[in-house]
Amino acid sequence: MDMDVPDTIGTAIIGGGLIGTCLALFLAEEGRDVAVFDDGRVGGSTANAGSLHVQMQSRFMRLYPDQVPALEEGLHLYPKAVAFWRDLEAELEADFELRMTGGLMVAEDADQLAFLAAKVERERALGVESEIVERDELGRIAPYLGPAVVGAELCPMEGKINPLFANAALRRTAVEKGAAFFDRTPVDGISRERAWWHVNTLHGTVSAGALVLAAGSGTKALAASIGVPVPVAAEPLHMNITEATGPLITHLVQHADRPITMKQLGAGQVVIGGGWPARQAGPMHHPTVELESLIGNVALGGHIVPAVSELNVIRCWAGLNTTGDGKGILGAVESEPGLFVAVPGDAGYTLGPLSARLVADVMLGREATEDLSPFSPSRFG
Ligand SMILES: Cc1cc2nc3c(=O)[nH]c(=O)nc-3n(C[C@H](O)[C@H](O)[C@H](O)COP(=O)(O)OP(=O)(O)OC[C@H]3O[C@@H](n4cnc5c(N)ncnc54)[C@H](O)[C@@H]3O)c2cc1C
Repeated sequence: MDMDVPDTIGTAIIGGGLIGTCLALFLAEEGRDVAVFDDGRVGGSTANAGSLHVQMQSRFMRLYPDQVPALEEGLHLYPKAVAFWRDLEAELEADFELRMTGGLMVAEDADQLAFLAAKVERERALGVESEIVERDELGRIAPYLGPAVVGAELCPMEGKINPLFANAALRRTAVEKGAAFFDRTPVDGISRERAWWHVNTLHGTVSAGALVLAAGSGTKALAASIGVPVPVAAEPLHMNITEATGPLITHLVQHADRPITMKQLGAGQVVIGGGWPARQAGPMHHPTVELESLIGNVALGGHIVPAVSELNVIRCWAGLNTTGDGKGILGAVESEPGLFVAVPGDAGYTLGPLSARLVADVMLGREATEDLSPFSPSRFG
């Protein structure tokens, strides 16, 4: 992409991941003059597993028990976010390989089943459809599961998407609508002078009437530079993918007590993830794989779905997830006119397009379809 950044722009968006790209699309299609600046590191949107999550993830509940109340506060957004993805695919007449297959969270013993039963009760109380499936029924709907599995939680709204297809289609449409993307363009400073935001990029300074911080974990440093607290952090995570095989795994598969997600792409490869750790290495703190995660993640995959043990892993990679306080950070920063934050909550690929729509509506002066007050960036002071 052309590196000559404009002197002025209506709206500058820092971060060209899923939420920045969707925002650019939604604003550009309303005639707004938009430019996106991205440093080209491996963010979550290019690295993610393509799971469309609705039920609460056991991994999140184990790692961040203090954040579960916040997760629950935003739980109603997840089924809406999956429906939003489906509508977006239809609207763009694109193929994201989106399949609402349902998601199974499997249990291997009575304690794990009891955990799932309590989770089902909680989710239903919060309006999310889910149920416990006994072993016999599992044998019928998911014959690919191994003998260690004794039962599961089924959440019918869950599914999967191919992020490579979705990212490309969204970016292409945003460009067609007039949004400009500046890749390999890090932003190292922002400042406000009356109604103008100045964005210092590697290729020059851009002045913008409105500024959106959609930079994932990079949002914290940008906001802190002007005294606005946005407490997010980078979480490097590992991913694996196998060679292609015939139709095998229909659902999105997770585990009640161990970190794993598994699904099969349209072309037959099995994507194995679920939050095994990676690390940041080198002068650029690049997300880098850990051998223990490669082995542990794939071994667990083969334990749950034995046929996966027969497949070769053809690629593994690492990417940066963004963690916060358990829910999205979305909307205007009250103390700074013209400044907006767009950081989705946990399972941010699922939430990304809906979150972008809600922030775009605020920016366009429309009433958002959801109450954004629980997600306000101003909650941090
Ligand atoms: C390995 C992995 C697997 C995941 N799997 C799933 C999944 O299956 N389902 C799901 O729902 N979610 C998943 N997630 C989470 C999901 O990918 C993210 O929550 C989501 O993509 C976040 O989108 P985003 O646009 O907010 O941020 P990102 O995609 O991280 O984009 C932010 C962008 O901002 C750029 N940036 C940062 N600072 C600056 C700066 N100063 N100047 C310029 N650019 C900057 C970054 O380089 C990055 O490109 C996964 C995450 C990872 C890492």
